[in-house]
Amino acid sequence: MIKNTVLISKKALSICIFSTDFKLNKFTYSLMEQLEQLIPPLTQLTEDEQMLKEAAADFAEASIKPLVEEMDEKAKLDPDLVKQFFEMGLMGIDIPEKYAGGGGTFMMSIVAIEQISRVDASAGVFMDVQNTLVNNAFVNFASDHLKEKYLPQLATEKVGAYCLSEAGSGSDAFALKTTAKEDGDHFVLNGSKLWITNANEADIFLVFANINPEEGYRGITAFVVERDMKGFSVSKKENKLGIRASSTCEILLEDVRVPKENVLGEVGKGYKVAIETLNEGRIGIGAQMIGIAQGAFDAALAYIQERKQFGKAISEFQGVQFQLARMATDIETARLLVYNAARIKMSGQKFLKEAAMAKFYASEVAEKIASQAIDLYGGYGYVKEYPVEKYYRDSKIGKIYEGTTNMQLSTIAKLLLR
Ligand SMILES: Cc1cc2nc3c(=O)[nH]c(=O)nc-3n(C[C@H](O)[C@H](O)[C@H](O)COP(=O)(O)OP(=O)(O)OC[C@H]3O[C@@H](n4cnc5c(N)ncnc54)[C@H](O)[C@@H]3O)c2cc1C
Repeated sequence: MIKNTVLISKKALSICIFSTDFKLNKFTYSLMEQLEQLIPPLTQLTEDEQMLKEAAADFAEASIKPLVEEMDEKAKLDPDLVKQFFEMGLMGIDIPEKYAGGGGTFMMSIVAIEQISRVDASAGVFMDVQNTLVNNAFVNFASDHLKEKYLPQLATEKVGAYCLSEAGSGSDAFALKTTAKEDGDHFVLNGSKLWITNANEADIFLVFANINPEEGYRGITAFVVERDMKGFSVSKKENKLGIRASSTCEILLEDVRVPKENVLGEVGKGYKVAIETLNEGRIGIGAQMIGIAQGAFDAALAYIQERKQFGKAISEFQGVQFQLARMATDIETARLLVYNAARIKMSGQKFLKEAAMAKFYASEVAEKIASQAIDLYGGYGYVKEYPVEKYYRDSKIGKIYEGTTNMQLSTIAKLLLR
């Protein structure tokens, strides 16, 4: 509708623009004003986006912030917090209302992930995986039966996990070794998965396995596996540098019988499910990264106005002010890339390059800003009593998961050279 209005307005403008008629010129200017309103700045949020942003920010400040240090130390998400995420409607933001979801948009998920990650990146990735990978796969690829069965659970009470990576296949994800053998009206899954986010909290696992390894990636199929299915277990939990409260575990599959109706998407087309969901997921990781960068920046901004050296606040030194200005500019640049990728995706256009750029750049910025925030804190930045060392540790994951920085660069380069 907006697109059409813009086209009509442009046509009208081209007629009016050369006119010497005063009335027509007035009309031209008024049209131009309207056009400006129709194409809002990239960072201008709709009413719904703004409302969710504020709700997520308030929730993060009031309910997550007091728990951040303890959760990081214990390497565990607070179970009450998990419940609150569902109560807040943050686990099914763009699941359609008919499946008990929020009926929101992808951009709403992005602004919420950013706000939660600003306070805690572990909590950020907890909701990010649910919204941008698991729910996304169900909404876009599942049969009506699977949608009806699982989407209401994912929106209201059950955590999902996305199981693609294995010990021997990370960047080369489609070299996965987990197999699925047909047996009557079931597939029998065998293998193991590594690095699975939310594995400790999850009940619903989207597992990628190969039904015909000789066919290579064309055998990869996505299965919906439930935690209590026989032969399924969550194994070793990783002890990590950052996002420590987010669970990252190994998954074991030993003769797990999965009903055929639990194939998500088409048999042999799991690679498509993986590629498409991860393209979207990368924008979510970009949002997590700008949240981390903003959180580190906000802490540093407050600190430099309090900390006094040479008889004045360190924020009064021009050298510090220039550092601050560069940091803010870097964050804004990353945010523009992330929001632009999200808005392009929502408009239905191709967004592969933009998503890769957003994730690549936002993860670089997060690491850089968190490091500079430590610099601005001086020695206090290096100790756990202050928040910035955690932002630095948390930022590192951005360059690794959902495709390493090298893999993003390779995607961008491929598209440029096509
Ligand atoms: C905390 C955490 C959470 C995770 N959560 C999940 C999850 O929920 N689900 C899931 O499926 N996976 C998850 N992962 C796995 C993650 O996606 C992989 O770790 C990632 O894709 C990299 O794979 P790898 O670790 O095997 O590294 P490798 O692929 O071995 O890469 C090692 C290095 O080699 C480089 N490299 C590899 N191939 C190339 C190439 N062709 N060109 C240039 N450089 C290359 C990489 O860029 C990297 O620097 C998670 C990982 C972590 C650490």
